[in-house]
Amino acid sequence: MPPEEFLVHGRHILEWISEYLGSDGRYPVLAQVRPGEVRASLAPSPPWEGEAFEQILRDFEEQVVPGLTHWNHPGFLAYFANTASSPAILGDLLATAVNANAMIWKTSPAATEVEGVTADWLRQLLGLPGDFAGFINDTASHNTLYALAAARARAFPEAGEDGLHSLPAGRIYASEHVHSSIDKAVVTLGLGRRGVRHLPADGSYRMKPKALRAAIEEDLAAGVRPVAVVAVAGTTSIASIDPLPEIADICREHGIWMHVDAAYAGVAGIVRELRPLLAGWERADSIVLNAHKWLFTPMDCALLYCRRPEALADAFSLVPPYLRTREADEARDLMNYGVALGRSFRALKLWFVLRYFGGRGLAERLREHCRLARRFAGWVQSSDRWQLMASTLLGLVVFRYRDPGLGPDRTDLANERILDAVNASGEVFLSHTVLEGRYVLRLSVGNLRTRHEHVERAWRRLELEAARLG
Ligand code: PLP
Repeated sequence: MPPEEFLVHGRHILEWISEYLGSDGRYPVLAQVRPGEVRASLAPSPPWEGEAFEQILRDFEEQVVPGLTHWNHPGFLAYFANTASSPAILGDLLATAVNANAMIWKTSPAATEVEGVTADWLRQLLGLPGDFAGFINDTASHNTLYALAAARARAFPEAGEDGLHSLPAGRIYASEHVHSSIDKAVVTLGLGRRGVRHLPADGSYRMKPKALRAAIEEDLAAGVRPVAVVAVAGTTSIASIDPLPEIADICREHGIWMHVDAAYAGVAGIVRELRPLLAGWERADSIVLNAHKWLFTPMDCALLYCRRPEALADAFSLVPPYLRTREADEARDLMNYGVALGRSFRALKLWFVLRYFGGRGLAERLREHCRLARRFAGWVQSSDRWQLMASTLLGLVVFRYRDPGLGPDRTDLANERILDAVNASGEVFLSHTVLEGRYVLRLSVGNLRTRHEHVERAWRRLELEAARLG
C-alpha cells in the first residue's frame, strides 16, 4: 500500500474508532447473532486478486462488527471488564507498526528495556518490593503456567533432565474457588489432575489456612512433594481474597513456593485505601496480574512478577547456537523466561496507559468503579426482591433474585431467565456464576467508560425483567 493511500485509510480508520468508542447505544453490547451466522456471511474462499481496501473496510463493518460483543461498551458489566482505552489503542498501533520482536535483547533492545521499566513502574504503583522482576506476557493463564513451572523446577530439580516419571507425586494447593487456569497449568506440567488439591473455603469464600496446613502435612507424611500454594486475590466468581499473610506464613514454614493469582484484583494495589486488602502478597514468590482486566489496556497484556527469575530461567532457558549473543551476560533475553520465542511489544500500550493516566488518574477511576459497585449493592440490599450473595470489596457485585414462593431450583431458573432477558436488551451485559450449587448473577464495574447511568440502567432492567416474571 503506497504511503499516501495508507494515510487516507489510516485517517478513515481513526475516525471510525473515535466514533465507535463514543457510540454508547449504537451497538448492542452483547452480540445478537446465532452460532454460524458470521461465518455464513463471509466469503467461503480467499480472493486470488487483491481487493480494494474500501471493500475490506465495508465488510468489516457489515459482516464482522455485528458479530462482536462489545467489551468497550459502557454497559459491559459481565465477567471482569477489559477496556481498550484510547492511549492504549494508539500505543498498540505503534507497537504493531514497528513490529518489534523482543525474543532476545538484540532483536529489539528498546522493547526488552521498555518492558522491564513498565513492569517496574507498575510494581512501584502497587507498592510491591523492589526484588520482584516483572515480565509481560499474553495472559494470566500462561503467566501462572510459567510461575508454576519455576516452582516445579525448584521442587524437582532432577526433573529438568529426566522428567517426572520416577519421582514422587507433586502437589499444588489452592482453594475450591481457584481459576481453572491453575488446573490447566498443573496438568500441562505433568502433575496430573490429582496434582492440584482444592481445599474447602470458609463462609467468605476464602482458603482456610488450617485446611491448607493439614493438607500439606498429610501429603508430606504420604511422601507427596509440595510444589506450590496458589492463593487468589480476587476470585473469578466473587472476587474474594484468600488470607494471604497466613498462607505466606505456612509457605515460609514449609519452604513452599507461594504464587498469588491477582489477575483481577491486583491493580487495586494502586488505590491507597484498597491496598491493605492485598497485604501479604508482597511475601509471594510470584504474582500474576492482568493489565487487560481492570487497567484499561486491551487484550492481551498480563504481568508476571517473580522474585526468583533464576527459577524461571531454570525452567525455560534453552539457548540454541543461532540465538547466542555477545550481550547475553549483561542483557536480559526474554525468551529465557517463558515458552514463546517471539514476543510482541505489549509493554508499549501499557507504558502509554501509565503515562497518560498517571498513578493518580488510575487510582481515581478504580475508586469510582468501587463506588458504583457499592451503590448498586445498596440498591440490591434495600430491595426485598433481591439478595446480596457476597460482600462487595471491589467492583464486583454478586447477587440473586429471590422469591420466597419459589423453591431454590425455580429461583435458579428465574435468575437465568432474568439474565437472558436483560442481556437480550442489548443495553447492558451481565454474567452469572454458580455459588454453592445455586445460580447467581454478577455485575462487574470495570470499564473505563461505565458511569452511574449505566449501572442504574442495569438495575432498572433487572427490576423490569423480575417484575415481568409475574
Ligand atoms: N485468574 C483469575 C482469578 C481470573 O479471573 C482469570 C480470568 O478471568 C484468569 C486467571 C485468567 O486470565 P487470562 O484470561 O488472562 O488467562
